[in-house]
Amino acid sequence: MASNLSAPVHVIGGGLAGSEAAWQLAQAGVPVTLHEMRAVRQTEAHKTDRLAELVCSNSFRSDDAVNNAVGLLHEEMRRCGSLILAAGDAHKLPAGGALAVDRDGFAATVSERLTAHPLVTIRREEIAGLPPPDWDQVIVATGPLTSPALADAILRLTGESALAFFDAIAPIVHRESIDFERAWFQSRYDKAGPAGDGADYINCAFDKAPYLAFVEALLAGEKTEFKAWEQDTPYFEGCLPIEVMAARGPNTLRFGPMKPVGLFDPHSSRRRYAVVQLRQDNALGTLFNMVGFQTKLKHGEQVRIFRMIPGLERAEFARLGGLHRNTFLNSPRLLDRQLRLKAMPRLRFAGQITGVEGYVESAAIGLLAGRLAAAERRGQPLEAPPPTTALGALVNHITGGASAQTFQPMNVNFGLFPPLPDEERYKRSHLSRKPALSARALHDLAVWLDGARQAAA
Ligand SMILES: Cc1cc2nc3c(=O)[nH]c(=O)nc-3n(C[C@H](O)[C@H](O)[C@H](O)COP(=O)(O)OP(=O)(O)OC[C@H]3O[C@@H](n4cnc5c(N)ncnc54)[C@H](O)[C@@H]3O)c2cc1C
Repeated sequence: MASNLSAPVHVIGGGLAGSEAAWQLAQAGVPVTLHEMRAVRQTEAHKTDRLAELVCSNSFRSDDAVNNAVGLLHEEMRRCGSLILAAGDAHKLPAGGALAVDRDGFAATVSERLTAHPLVTIRREEIAGLPPPDWDQVIVATGPLTSPALADAILRLTGESALAFFDAIAPIVHRESIDFERAWFQSRYDKAGPAGDGADYINCAFDKAPYLAFVEALLAGEKTEFKAWEQDTPYFEGCLPIEVMAARGPNTLRFGPMKPVGLFDPHSSRRRYAVVQLRQDNALGTLFNMVGFQTKLKHGEQVRIFRMIPGLERAEFARLGGLHRNTFLNSPRLLDRQLRLKAMPRLRFAGQITGVEGYVESAAIGLLAGRLAAAERRGQPLEAPPPTTALGALVNHITGGASAQTFQPMNVNFGLFPPLPDEERYKRSHLSRKPALSARALHDLAVWLDGARQAAA
């Protein structure tokens, strides 16, 4: 049954996700109060008091809905009536195949549309602790720079290990791009572990000379710098970048994350000098995480240097590594499929704080949170879209598809989608499967949208 139809849903944070969530709620006929602290209190990165301010680049990345997963996500969001995409399209700038926007015009349009909406009330205030108990439905969309008072309250609720203030991202590789003439599956000492079979890791082995050349390349590679306000981030020592470990001496890596012990290379009878291990990163088994390879190397350098690893010469990366100030939940452990906190279901989360990465992905999760909250408010429960869609693949990943042990922020990518029924045909013929994945996604999204429309009628 619908409850308390005239009570607003409270959205905390008027960034990319919160603005989109508020819009979706209001468009569904549900009153919203949007609480945004800027104007009263700034973050370290925002410069204005506009809603949906872009803190850094002005790009929403590729707009190719046929061959690129983020382009597909754009298209799905347009079909869901996204305010962020409408404002982006209205203020787009020439940028080849990418959707780049005039940041001032974009944020001004989002602010104006929300301010003018009769069902939206905007309050400029910091929510400095858990929302009051009489707010029966709340969307927390406070982003990577959630204010410390609210972050502390969430930390007390979820436990210390479930909220990170720093991401330590190791690159993720598409399994299909790994050369198994050189790499092999094996767990160290063939240990099966609780969910394994003794062959859970992909191993890539070095001989001495190429290993030393690899260490040299790590040291010489161009790095990104921490921003001034990131420098004293507390978790830095616990997750050292691979190049910092390499700088401690040529043997540090081969006695650390690249130790060769307990592994036998079936392709060679030689004793191997160092081994890179990759661990399964999603339930589908399509993505593998380079264990211990969090890094501040520039993205181009990562591709160049990590392709020196035997077996990864043609590696395609679903995500490259990085270390940044961030605030994100261990969503696979904490959130249900409706993006609600299992421990306090009146709190729903959206945006970067759920462990997605990027403007578009954050807005996409805001879109879903808004729609799911509106359906709940109207007493017409709605399931998240199927994982064959970009929206569904993303929400499926953060609420269960990803491993909770290694969870780190993720961009949308085709590795998150379930395989096509005729996947083997694409492999055999070397045809790109991306257009087929996109066509299936848009078809399945249309079915989901129809179902949602009928339920709301
Ligand atoms: C320095 C930096 C650079 C980045 N560069 C890029 C980039 O170039 N491209 C890209 O795709 N992504 C980038 N990101 C990631 C980017 O932040 C997210 O992609 C996106 O902005 C996240 O959207 P969001 O809505 O979750 O958070 P935000 O857009 O940050 O919105 C959160 C909002 O919540 C408000 N808020 C926080 N705490 C409270 C509180 N307690 N009460 C009320 N309001 C509160 C904030 O003021 C903010 O307006 C960057 C992130 C950072 C930190």
